[in-house]
Amino acid sequence: METLVNITAIAVGSVFTLWAIARAWGMRHAVQQAGYCNLLRVLLALMFFFFLGYLFSIWAIVTQHSEWLHSAVAFIFLFGSVFVLLTVWLAQSTSSKLKQYSQHLEQLVEERTQHLQVALHEQELARRYFSQLFEGLPVACFTYDRDGVIRDWNGEARSLYGLTAEEAVGNNIYTLFCRPEQLDLARQTIVRVFAGESFREIEWQYTKDSGETRWLLSSTFPLTDTEGNVVGAISASIDITERKQQQQLIEAQRDELEAQNENLQQITNRLAEANAQLERMAVTDGLTELPNHRVFRERLWREFLWSLEHDQPLSVLLLDIDHFKQFNDTYGHQAGDEVLRKVASVLRQCCEGTSFPARYGGEEFVVILPDMDEDVALRFADTLRQAIADTPCCYRQITASIGVATVALHTLNPDSLVEEADQALYLSKRRGRNRVTHAAREGIRIADIPADEWNERVQQAIRDAGGYAVQQIISQMIYDHLQALRRARCAVKSGTADQCLPGGDCRFQMWSEYAAGCAHFTSNHLQGLSELHEQFHRLLGRVQEELSPEALTQLQRCGQQLIDALHEVLVVIPRAA
Ligand code: GH3
Ligand code: MG
Ligand code: MG
Repeated sequence: METLVNITAIAVGSVFTLWAIARAWGMRHAVQQAGYCNLLRVLLALMFFFFLGYLFSIWAIVTQHSEWLHSAVAFIFLFGSVFVLLTVWLAQSTSSKLKQYSQHLEQLVEERTQHLQVALHEQELARRYFSQLFEGLPVACFTYDRDGVIRDWNGEARSLYGLTAEEAVGNNIYTLFCRPEQLDLARQTIVRVFAGESFREIEWQYTKDSGETRWLLSSTFPLTDTEGNVVGAISASIDITERKQQQQLIEAQRDELEAQNENLQQITNRLAEANAQLERMAVTDGLTELPNHRVFRERLWREFLWSLEHDQPLSVLLLDIDHFKQFNDTYGHQAGDEVLRKVASVLRQCCEGTSFPARYGGEEFVVILPDMDEDVALRFADTLRQAIADTPCCYRQITASIGVATVALHTLNPDSLVEEADQALYLSKRRGRNRVTHAAREGIRIADIPADEWNERVQQAIRDAGGYAVQQIISQMIYDHLQALRRARCAVKSGTADQCLPGGDCRFQMWSEYAAGCAHFTSNHLQGLSELHEQFHRLLGRVQEELSPEALTQLQRCGQQLIDALHEVLVVIPRAA
């Protein structure tokens, strides 16, 4: 009976304990999650002790050790109940912890769900924004994938390419846009875009189905995902056909303009060449290529002024080939021309520095000899004569006669100087040719311009609209005053007023009467000139009486003013054409 009770007690205890073990085992994951791992370990240890108690009680029953059996039963009950109690407590604690945990999880899930909903909403909004933006972009846009298949197609693309979204999306850009010769380039471009490269403002031509060709300006950019991988590309294009046409038009016009410019440049160059030639011809003698008579006169005028202003010597040499008419008659005009060229070349060789040779006309030549006084000019002339006489000539030897004149105190103007040289030349001829004569050595002096010649000049000035004659007259006034100053200087230096300051007619009055009727001169201007002229003559009279350097200084100052005023007048007079 007692054994039965023991067995029953052991069985009941075992059942409870096994239930508790099963329960504890069943909750092991939950217990772990609830953080009761140590407690579970304790329970398992208890389980081990219980197991030991159980084995011990079975041993006690089998070996009929009733005293040990009681201890075993007590042991099993003790541990069994502790074990059961701990299991029950653990189950309750775990369940309450798990409940809290699950509540927390639920709350978390709810929050996450809300966040997800907001994110989804925002994503939807962004998608809508993008799609509206994409659709409404004022440039033709489309996106495509790695194979060139079009994914999106906006409104502008519809009108630019003439294709609806249905016709374009899903199709390949190679088949839609590219001409056969453009295929390779398009493929390469796509490969490069998907390698992350961007293309900006590429110009290309697109031919619509209707056959119409348009110029497009396109930019292509890669589209990337959140990791930065290229997942697509977007291409934006505008139609630049009109701009291109205008550009081509402008380029064509520019080319045409350039061609015209070139043409114009050629014409201008030819004109400049012709002008230069004309200018050369205008100043050069065609046969001898020496300066012509006109250039000679202008040069002589300037040299004459310079020599008077700076009190420097100036000579002129006139040269005439001897018996040239006979030469022409005997050997012909062409041989004569050859001789003229030869003489010109000798002149060029002999004239250095400031000496200025020119063809005076016919077989006469002239040389301006600045800074050469009588003696130097004579020596130069003789050297020249000798050089001509020594020049080998194809038919017969030629010679030349020379007349020389040097600016002196009596010299009136360049014309009178040349006239003196001409008279000296005439003497050379008369005395047997091939010789040199100096005017001053022969007493040749042209010291006055006859009144009727003056009259003639003034009349000519009145008739001459070009102003050349009036220019001559004013030049004459300047020479007069410069010569007067030069003579005064000479008189003061030598102390012999009678020899240096010869009396002579002054034609200032004549000239100013003419000038009064001329539009260029105001009466103020004229009056100023007259006053200066009167003052100049008064001072000249004083120099004549006193022969003092002070009087000369005053005269020089007044003379300079007068000459400057006359120079001004010269500037306003238009030169003869
Ligand atoms: P003289 O010794 O007195 O100067 O005698 P001349 O024969 O040289 O004198 P004249 O002035 O009478 O003759 C000048 C000649 O020069 C007349 C003309 O046939 C000739 N002549 C003038 N110009 C040219 C020219 O350009 N070429 C040629 N071949 N002869 C010219
Ligand atoms: Mg002659
Ligand atoms: Mg001659």
